[in-house]
Amino acid sequence: MLNLEELRGIAATNPGGDYYVSLYLNVDPITNPNGEYIIKVRNMLKETAEGLERQKPVCKKVKEDLELLEDYFTGQKPQFRKAICLITRKSGGFWKEYHLAMPVQSGIFVDTTPYLKPLFDLMDHYPRHLILLLSKDEARMFVVQMGEILEYGEVRTPDVIGKHKKGGWFALEQDRFERHTDFHVGLHLNEVVRQLSGFVEKQGISRIVIGGPQETLAMGREKLPSGLAGRVIGEFHAGMYETSRQILDRVQPIVSAYEGGRQNETVDELVTRAHKNNQAVLGIEDVMLMSGEKKIMTLLVDPALKQDGYACRNCGALALGPQNCRWCGGGMYGVNYLIDLLMQKTVENGGRVEVVPENEKLRNLGKIGAILRY
Ligand SMILES: [Zn+2]
Repeated sequence: MLNLEELRGIAATNPGGDYYVSLYLNVDPITNPNGEYIIKVRNMLKETAEGLERQKPVCKKVKEDLELLEDYFTGQKPQFRKAICLITRKSGGFWKEYHLAMPVQSGIFVDTTPYLKPLFDLMDHYPRHLILLLSKDEARMFVVQMGEILEYGEVRTPDVIGKHKKGGWFALEQDRFERHTDFHVGLHLNEVVRQLSGFVEKQGISRIVIGGPQETLAMGREKLPSGLAGRVIGEFHAGMYETSRQILDRVQPIVSAYEGGRQNETVDELVTRAHKNNQAVLGIEDVMLMSGEKKIMTLLVDPALKQDGYACRNCGALALGPQNCRWCGGGMYGVNYLIDLLMQKTVENGGRVEVVPENEKLRNLGKIGAILRY
């Protein structure tokens, strides 16, 4: 998962004249059923090497990095997601590998700093949610983004006296015991808030979901400072020792509902503009046409939409019918993953993709639409 603090750290490194090679590539197994990305990456690497021949000192420095990248794709066969970002500087032993859940604009960038803008853009555009699982003496923190969950840390504030329970050999009187417990829970919450604030700040997270046993949910609501409480978008019941997967299942409906609200507004804008003929189109046919003209700024698509189609052998343009490519005249081949290709192409051409599940309006209007560039 992308980590803002780590990216900021990489962005701030000073290589002292050495070169980084940053590679972005769509490797989705659906749109690359026969490993087609290997041909593409070879061409990209070849073009990069040729382009650098005029700059001999740079060429010499990054030659090994380009070889390393080629070996990566031809050697092992990693389990790919939709896209990958690799950043290397062999002379400094630097290697970073990000498997991404959304397509990217493919490219190779050679520079004295790593090229991180596409990663920062992904972080901006696909909101991250912090999940706080809270009990009276423990807390766990997770981040959820693009359907992924990652656990980041925990806070434990064990209560030494409480562990002996009242009635133990150094029993406390009832009211002293309660006062002690309150005091201890207060200490714990202070520590949780301290860590949570630091984390939210470092990772630039604006939304929080709280989970835990019933009693601690109320406690969390009351005791969180307003700066954090204002970011809470929902809560859920859970045990403290559930797995990340179980937590994700509980959190997903809350996150989806929240995202859905935000997406409804985008769909409303799409529909209004399309009806006024103002830089927006609805339905697969018009969307395909606008994709060919590279005019799509935001593609909105219902994940339930399945569509067969054709892709040009020559320029990669997409079409619904098998007639020769309307853009270059090349021959077409059939694909049963047209929508995945369309999403990829949108990003390749500098647009964005919004997957919109369960929006009644979009569903009734052909499950797909696009807001266009001015
Ligand atoms: Zn073509």
